[in-house]
This record gives sequence, C-alpha cells and structure tokens, in this order.
Amino acid sequence: MKTTLLLPVLLWAVAASAQPLRQPDGGGIYRPEEAADEFSEADYNYMRSVLAANKLQLQKQGKWAAPLPQVTAFQWPTRLRTNLLGNQNASYLGYYGISNYIDQNTAFPNQLLDYNCGNRTYDLSGGYNHRGTDIFSWPFPWTKMENNEVEIIAAAAGTIIAKFDGNPDQNCAFCTSACNWNAVYVRQADGSVAWYGHLKSGSLTSKAIGASVLAGEYLGVMGSSGNSTGPHLHFEVWETEALAKLVDPWAGSCNTLNGTTSWWASQQPYRVSTLNAVMTHGTAPVHTQCAGGERVNEKKSFRGGDTVFLGTYYRDQLQGQTVLHEIYMPNNTRYTFWNQSLTSTFNASWWYYYIILPSNPMVGEWRYDVTHNGVLSRTRFAVGQPMQFTFNGNGSFQNPANWSGSRMPSLPVPNGVEVVINSAGANQCVVDAPVRFLKGARLTISSGANVRFQHNLVLEQ
Ligand SMILES: [Zn+2]
Repeated sequence: MKTTLLLPVLLWAVAASAQPLRQPDGGGIYRPEEAADEFSEADYNYMRSVLAANKLQLQKQGKWAAPLPQVTAFQWPTRLRTNLLGNQNASYLGYYGISNYIDQNTAFPNQLLDYNCGNRTYDLSGGYNHRGTDIFSWPFPWTKMENNEVEIIAAAAGTIIAKFDGNPDQNCAFCTSACNWNAVYVRQADGSVAWYGHLKSGSLTSKAIGASVLAGEYLGVMGSSGNSTGPHLHFEVWETEALAKLVDPWAGSCNTLNGTTSWWASQQPYRVSTLNAVMTHGTAPVHTQCAGGERVNEKKSFRGGDTVFLGTYYRDQLQGQTVLHEIYMPNNTRYTFWNQSLTSTFNASWWYYYIILPSNPMVGEWRYDVTHNGVLSRTRFAVGQPMQFTFNGNGSFQNPANWSGSRMPSLPVPNGVEVVINSAGANQCVVDAPVRFLKGARLTISSGANVRFQHNLVLEQ
C-alpha cells in the first residue's frame, strides 16, 4: 500500500523538476490597476441641478415616467469592438480589468472597505469616498482609445437624462483646476440613474436627452476625460436623480448600501484571473501613464538570429499561480518551455521573456502557447516568411468566415503580417471598418480583385 501511495508523489516531483522555472526578463504591475477619479461635493451639487432642470424639461415633454419597483438588472457596460475578441489569431483574449469598487466605509482617509470586505477601493484626504466601479482597458489602454476599440454600452434600458461632451479626454492625473468629463446619464424604468463617465470626446451617441436606449446600446468610447488618471469607465448608480441614495451593484457581505441584492443580471466573481493577451513583439513594449508614449511594438514575422519578445498581459494575476510557457516549431516539435511563478496578486500586470532564434531556424509558423489558470492561450508568429492571411470570401473584412481557413489578422494589422485580397468574380471585399496597417505590415491586392471601401484603409509608413 505504501508503494502505491508514494508513486504518484514521486512522479509529480519528477514532472515538476522537468519544467524549469524562469524569471521574466521584464514587466510587473501596471498603472491602470490604479485607474481612478475624484468628484467634489460641488460636482455633485452641479449634477443635481442639471438633472433637476432636465427632469422638468422631460416632464413637460411627457418623457419622465413614474418609477416602477426596482427592476434593474445590469449587463456588463463595456464591450470590445466587433470581431476583435475570440478570433484565434487576434492578440487580445480579454480587454479590461477592475481597479476600484465603491468605498463602503465613509470615514477617511485610508478607511477602505469594498462590497466583498476587501480594500479594492480608495478615498481621498479631502473626504471623497469612491462611489462607482472603475473598469479600465488593458493592455495598451491609450492605443485602444486611439483605435476606438473599447465601447461603453448601456448596462440597462432607459432614457438619456443628461449628456456632456467636448471636454479634453487624455487626462492622466487628478485635475488641479476644474475639469469636466464627457458622460452619459441614463434613467432606468425603476427611476434609478446610471452614470457612464470619462468618455472619449466626440464619441458619444448622437441620441439626444429624452431619447431611450436599449440594454447593450452604444453610448460612447472609453476615454480619460474629467478627473481621471487614465482610460477607464466610471460606472456609478443612484436610486433616483436626486443623487441622495447610492447603489452598489455588487452583492456582498460588506455591501451596506443594498445588502446582498445584486444589480447585475450575472455578477462576476471578485477576481477573474485571466490572461488578457498573448503577443509577440520586435522589441519590448512601452507602457506609459500618459498618452503619447505607449508603444505596442507587436511583430509577427522574424528571421534567424532575431530576438522574439514574448508578452503576456494579465487581469487579476493571483499570488501562487504557475504559468507554463511553450514555444513550438512548425513541425509541432517543442522548441523550448519554462514555468513562471506569479508571486503577487495584481489587478493588472504584464511580463515578457525573450528568446533568440537560431541562425538557421525552421521556416514557417511557430506558436507561443501559454497555460494560465487551466486555460491554454496561443499566438502564432512566422519565421523566415511573412505571416499571411488571405481574404477570398464575399462581404465584410471583419468576418473571419471570409478569410482562408477562417484565419483573419488581428486589427490593426501588426508588423510582419501580409494581407492578400483575392476576392474576384462575384466576390467582393467590403472594408466595413477603419483598417490600419501598422508599419511593417503589407497589403497585396491581387489583379482583378474587387474591393469596396466604406471606411479608410490606412497604411502607416
Ligand atoms: Zn471611479
């Protein structure tokens, strides 16, 4: 009996030692995990006066219905632009994280309590206790903002009762003087009011105050307008437009605002440990607190002797997790592999390793597999040739079904990728979204191919 008990333990020990532990070559915690904002009592008083005035107008127009009993069940208020997620060749597997919940402890400073009895919130010495949920985009929030990749959508149906637009949207620190945000305020059927704030200037829905929106309807693009330290959505909910009673949509044992009643149709766990992106880079990416300096440096094609930077981007990495990294050659032989030990819990983090390809590597598509939290994520890179994607279908550029083997490139098209458009005869390639080819990407339109442009196609030099 002793032997049978010991054997699995011994085998496990052998397997574990066969997978070398390797320290990352760079990375760490990332600043969006601190994405934050601040509102003064004067801001709240101003909002109360705007909402009261708009209410009067809407009542005159017959657009202010009597509130029903609480019926609101929120969907998630953000989404990634169509087809950028879930495409196995796309670089992004997830695109956001949560930096802050509501501070349930009204004392300050540094008296923190979130709905789950943790301290994932903040307050400020001036007396502000955070009153919303901060959802940040990750990785590369400024690049995502520039490309309009993360959209804010109505978490529940309702009526637009206030809108602000036209304010600067690239703030990256708390304002030292008054700074207004771009935001949409929606009143739900039960009279509760949801704020969608920090939106990108000029991105707001064209619908006017008094118009109704459906759950999931587009409201704007995630930005960093107003008192904001980086691109994120501040989602705040009040029981009525009087802004007297705050709602914390997250049910939990330390939610003293509305107890154990969740306002989410399906509430996410407190931590959702996810690998948001697996990427290859030509050089290490650059993350910056403010807009302008961020560099993705994604690259999908390499030659012998090149250094390949392998990037991983996590939401809620958890202390004690182990990550398996594997590189496979085109013939499915494992070229190298190692383990990574995650020693801290972070809302957002990134790590990179690099490998140097042999001087005469196997030509073809290599792959980078990362197993984290029981989930295998994968990206591919080409060696000795461009990474080619061929459009030979009919219709949308963004529909994977129109691409050979249902393989479409990630957008914007990365360095080292060649897109070939072959749609001919009755077939037409419809460029139905703005498509950007980053420096080092290539576009080939075969002779006789049909292409129709509904949006710009941009080739970066
Ligand atoms: Zn906030």
